[in-house]
Amino acid sequence: MKTEDQRPIRGMPYQDSTLPEGERTQDLLSRMTLEEKVGQMMQLEGRKELLPDLILRRHVGSILHTSPDDLPAALTMAVQETRLGIPLIVGDDCIHGYSFWPGATIFPSQLGMATSWDPERVRQAARVTAEEVSATGVHWTFSPVLCISRDTRWGRVDETFGEDPLLIGDLASAMVKGYQGGAKAGEPLPEDAIMACAKHFAGYSETQGGRDASEADLSHRKLMSWFLPPFERVAKEGCGSFMLGYEAIDGTPVTLNHWLLDEVLRGQWGYRGMLVTDWDNVGRTVWEQHIEPDYTHAAADAVKAGNDLMMTTPQFYEGALEAVRSGILEEDQLDQAVGRILAVKFRLGLFENPRLPDRERIRTTIGSQEHKRTNLELTRESVVLLRNDGSLPLKAGIVPRQEEGVHRLAVVGPLADDAQSQLGDWSGASGQVPWMRQGQPREMIVTVRDGLTSLLPEGWQVDYARGADIITMVDDPAGPTFHDGQPRPKIAQSAPTDQDQLDQAVQTARRSDAVIAVVGDLVQLTGEGRSTATLELMGGQADLIRALVDVCSQEDKPLCLVLMSSKPLVLPAEADLANALIWAPSPGMEGGRAIAEIILGLTEPSGRLPISMPRHVGQLPVYYNQVRGQHGNRYADLTQDPAFVFGQGLSYTTFEYGCPTIEGGPGPFTHDQVIHASIPLTNTGDRPGVEVVQAYVRDLVTSVTWADRELKAYKRVSLEPGQTAQVELDIPISACSIVDSSAHRVVEDGEFDLLIGHSSNEDDLQAVRFSVTGARSV
Ligand code: BGC
Repeated sequence: MKTEDQRPIRGMPYQDSTLPEGERTQDLLSRMTLEEKVGQMMQLEGRKELLPDLILRRHVGSILHTSPDDLPAALTMAVQETRLGIPLIVGDDCIHGYSFWPGATIFPSQLGMATSWDPERVRQAARVTAEEVSATGVHWTFSPVLCISRDTRWGRVDETFGEDPLLIGDLASAMVKGYQGGAKAGEPLPEDAIMACAKHFAGYSETQGGRDASEADLSHRKLMSWFLPPFERVAKEGCGSFMLGYEAIDGTPVTLNHWLLDEVLRGQWGYRGMLVTDWDNVGRTVWEQHIEPDYTHAAADAVKAGNDLMMTTPQFYEGALEAVRSGILEEDQLDQAVGRILAVKFRLGLFENPRLPDRERIRTTIGSQEHKRTNLELTRESVVLLRNDGSLPLKAGIVPRQEEGVHRLAVVGPLADDAQSQLGDWSGASGQVPWMRQGQPREMIVTVRDGLTSLLPEGWQVDYARGADIITMVDDPAGPTFHDGQPRPKIAQSAPTDQDQLDQAVQTARRSDAVIAVVGDLVQLTGEGRSTATLELMGGQADLIRALVDVCSQEDKPLCLVLMSSKPLVLPAEADLANALIWAPSPGMEGGRAIAEIILGLTEPSGRLPISMPRHVGQLPVYYNQVRGQHGNRYADLTQDPAFVFGQGLSYTTFEYGCPTIEGGPGPFTHDQVIHASIPLTNTGDRPGVEVVQAYVRDLVTSVTWADRELKAYKRVSLEPGQTAQVELDIPISACSIVDSSAHRVVEDGEFDLLIGHSSNEDDLQAVRFSVTGARSV
């Protein structure tokens, strides 16, 4: 493949690191052939057998999903065997740890992280991920996800931070800072940093029927109101790249959407980073959305719309070359995109150091004890206690029922000891890459069974029974492959109740003093193309819960349900009779330990819901910040109240809120002021605890319909028994805004309620009124 003129040239201005980046880019652009420019704009799957073709013939600028074994050769080939020696930028989905590296630290999914309401811990998790990933030759992670989860039938809810724009923005901002080592727009990235990618820009989650990547029914105003603010924040803070969503909005796929890309992102927000399409977005305009007649037109339009890097559209190469030759695309238009890609490579210092895998750092950094500790600290906060009649924490004082005087704890359920499944999607065994089908090393993962076994005091014994299956996998009737030749996975069917497994679990429960049942979903019911029509527990799990509720109520022993799932699920009605309910959204490697610590009272529960949980799939949407106005407030056959609302979560102690006050009284305030609010909070119970104090704002009269209340500030507060604190919260008046009928964000004159308390539920909130004058755009 290699020819004489493909040997890298040396001593050119673009190779001189003392020159300004702009000068280097111009010099390099002036030396690149059309073919090299087009190739630079492509990102393809870096499978071993394809690498010479991709790098030497098609001149690709980037690869993704390249196995650890093949990566060094790919990186070296690009710098040593191509004419200009332009280094590759390597991307991968390291979205809760470097999932595709055996032995990496795997954190809770983003939804799990969001349950902590703790940006600093999330920043630390991203820092750990960056330290691990940057040692491996990968330079760029396709993370964080800033999509808003509203229709929870969608398969990718666990990749999101939940339903609230403020929380999403805070956590995404923290994650970007962690990945990029604090580097802002244009600044060089430290050696232990990786470039972040805000995705999927924008509105991808606004699906129809929860179906993945369907056309999103979104007005500009709705986008401006809730979907864009988190993206705007990270764009302005210097997130290095943005990935564009799959969906079309108002008839135009995001990839070709001038309004979103040019006017808003590059125009109003002044974004100078790199844009990457999602998987074959350019091709989809041809074969899926049927709005382009061929790849030549698709390539031309994608470039004109401002896309820089085209992910996995191999036909872009011939398409773009033909577009230039036939005159529907100017070569100058490619230069801007290529310039932005090269700028990223300069920013990463790849021309000086292509960042090959570093054996020593891999050995000392990946999966280190320190990283495990950081993971456990976050995971402890990523578990939410939703119901408790006082049975938790499990009391050491439960009288043993068995003659031998040993306490027996029944740990049952299909997720009680399923190590790989508790890691969630994008986690080695989740199917996106071929080299890790067995998943992460078993010994690095603590299941609930492991956690309880290792933490129970002397005299206690764990008896385990699986109790139920969740799914069986069957062939997809649509055939073995997708349009693009990728294999079509088998599909999941709810498994029948297995009477033997159920009987064993019931017997185990009968022999025990207390029962912990761990139920939920699996990765086969999660992710891209795996939305669910229902939210009920699948397989024999509902029967298992019913049987356990019967045994435990007959025999008067505590039953704690642990829901370990990728998204809020609906439990059978009998689950209300369980003594306690815990939710742990895909909790990662330390999940079982964190849950066991909470069950045993070694850790105080402090997670809060980042997403509301419905009672029934037909109630969707149930997100808390819905727009005011409808007839009545219930269905004829069901309440509209969700099972649990955004912000909810219990402690083992109790808290009492006093009356909130605003410094300087009720105003009026002007748009440039910040409200300093304060509220007394007392721990009225007999254990220490953490309360997540939440502040919402209600604009009493708005010029257009608007959400009844929106989260504007929050704070995690630790208090000892009997201790009182004055909790201070700052709310900028500019944040008390709405988006008016012409899609402009404005603060309007008038009266507002500041609502402070335990959750988004009206009954949990204490109100204080203030007013605003001097309305204006923000
Ligand atoms: C997903 C992205 C992901 C990309 C690369 C796409 O199908 O939508 O979130 O980053 O694949 O794996």
